Amino acid sequence: MAVTDVRRLIVVLGDQLDLGSTALRDVDPRRDVVWMCESADEATAVWSHQARIAVFLAAMRHFAEDLRARGLSVRYHRTEDERGSLAQALAADLDELRPGSVVVTQPGEYRVEQTLREAVEAAGVEWDCREDEHFLCSAADFAEWIGGRKQPRMEHFYRWMRRRTGWLMEAGEPVGGRWNFDADNRGAFTEDGPGLRPDPRSFPPDPTTQEVLDLVARRYGDHPGSLASFDWPLTREDALLALADFVDHRLARFGEVQDAMWSGEPWPAALLFHSRLSVALNLKLLDPREVIDAVVEAHVAGRAPIGSVEGFVRQVLGWREYVRGLYWQRMPEFVDANALDAQLPLPELYWTGETEFACLRETVGETLRHGYAHHIQRLMVTGLFGLLLGVSPRAMHEWYLAVYVDAVEWVELPNTIGMSQYADGGVLGSKPYVASGAYIDRMSDYCSGCPRRPDRATGDDACPFTTLYWDFLDRHRSRFAEHPRMTLQVRNLDRREDDLPAIRAAAAELRERLVSRPRPGGM
Ligand code: FAD
Ligand code: SF4
Repeated sequence: MAVTDVRRLIVVLGDQLDLGSTALRDVDPRRDVVWMCESADEATAVWSHQARIAVFLAAMRHFAEDLRARGLSVRYHRTEDERGSLAQALAADLDELRPGSVVVTQPGEYRVEQTLREAVEAAGVEWDCREDEHFLCSAADFAEWIGGRKQPRMEHFYRWMRRRTGWLMEAGEPVGGRWNFDADNRGAFTEDGPGLRPDPRSFPPDPTTQEVLDLVARRYGDHPGSLASFDWPLTREDALLALADFVDHRLARFGEVQDAMWSGEPWPAALLFHSRLSVALNLKLLDPREVIDAVVEAHVAGRAPIGSVEGFVRQVLGWREYVRGLYWQRMPEFVDANALDAQLPLPELYWTGETEFACLRETVGETLRHGYAHHIQRLMVTGLFGLLLGVSPRAMHEWYLAVYVDAVEWVELPNTIGMSQYADGGVLGSKPYVASGAYIDRMSDYCSGCPRRPDRATGDDACPFTTLYWDFLDRHRSRFAEHPRMTLQVRNLDRREDDLPAIRAAAAELRERLVSRPRPGGM
């Protein structure tokens, strides 16, 4: 429907594809225009994986089709229209359409909110920015919860959210008698691996998605990653099918093996028992309430054990909401946090996956092929390696934001800067997630295909994780010596005093070898 006298311009960003969003809730098809824009700047702000760009553009185009089918007027700028940055495109349309106000649901990224607000205010138009009710905890409620807490912890927030929402609660007590089933949820696979299971449901590209894949290949073909295995749910209908597929086929074992890793699985079986729902959730195709309801119902119906269901609810109700709350609390300073003063550039292997170290080859390789790796691969392989090596948190953040299809800053940045790199000095996690190669050996089959040995810190077959683990403790000994949760690790270091000169030399040699070569392209 063509609107001539525009009352409100309703801005819908690429990660706001929700018909029930606060911006769209009271839309009037006769007087309001929905505004969507594929800005080339957003695709290149970091050196984005080709699949990440394709996910956003294809999902946006599907959503715009849906809005039009519902009779709404949509002004949609395609990449090919060359409208410049998001702010430039918006400014030009404000000038042309002269709406009474611009309505938007709170953008998920600090930078985007700033630039859009400035463009609207510069045009002298009212800026009507509304709460993002996709989330279960508003920024204001989070601020109230955190209050004067000196040491906020996700576990306390999560229990507060369980009580508030009533999920997995019975007469004021946690279902199953415990808040936390983590201790049961640290299993690895036996040597037979993950075993036979149904392949995750596939979502082959339809014509709209195929058109985007062709565009991305043409325009962003020099960006990292591949489109060859592109297989993502990008509409609300497909997102609901993906949710049902997870609940029916993978949820029951999710908890038990959520930290386990295994090499050589074809895509999308490489998901193992994970949900692959982060993309649909972050684009807002799925609401976290319906996701949590679906897994809790599976437990009530006797189809999934409490350990798996609690483990999953903890991720969505706990971690996801918690990192979002912290993001808005701590931006814009969050992005520059560097408590351990790590300054090295990112090794080239993060962009190529070319390395003899099997765990990194597998994890980076999967990441480049599919734009996906599960949480422990991100935290305890690529993240751990950067932390131990001393790569700058900013470089790590830019890599994570670029290479994962589910990457949006409000969730990526706290996970990288806080959880993975300890750059916030212990706000998000009370201690750094550091371990030697023994952890990776315990949780995966990677070491059996690696020329290095996880128990060796020095020598030709030394595991780089083990070398760098001791070197990390040595470099940060004074910081962690009195830390109540690190004393054991530091005490173990004291027992290796005689080995330290060789460990320091091996770590220096690794740094020299891994970070001296330039990486390809971009950022
Ligand atoms: P599952 O393992 O099936 O988990 C279910 C859901 O729980 C996920 O879809 C996600 O919505 C939520 N979830 C799980 N862990 C977290 C967490 N730590 N923080 C917030 N939500 C969580 N997640 C993103 O969505 N986008 C990112 O850009 C992102 N970057 C990360 C960077 C690093 C360094 C680390 C350590 C983690 C990052 N995560 C990110 C969190 C987590 O790794 C992904 O959400 C998860 O791997 C997505 O796969 P899945 O949907 O199969 O998740
Ligand atoms: Fe990774 Fe070390 Fe194991 Fe090799 S030996 S796969 S480098 S943990």
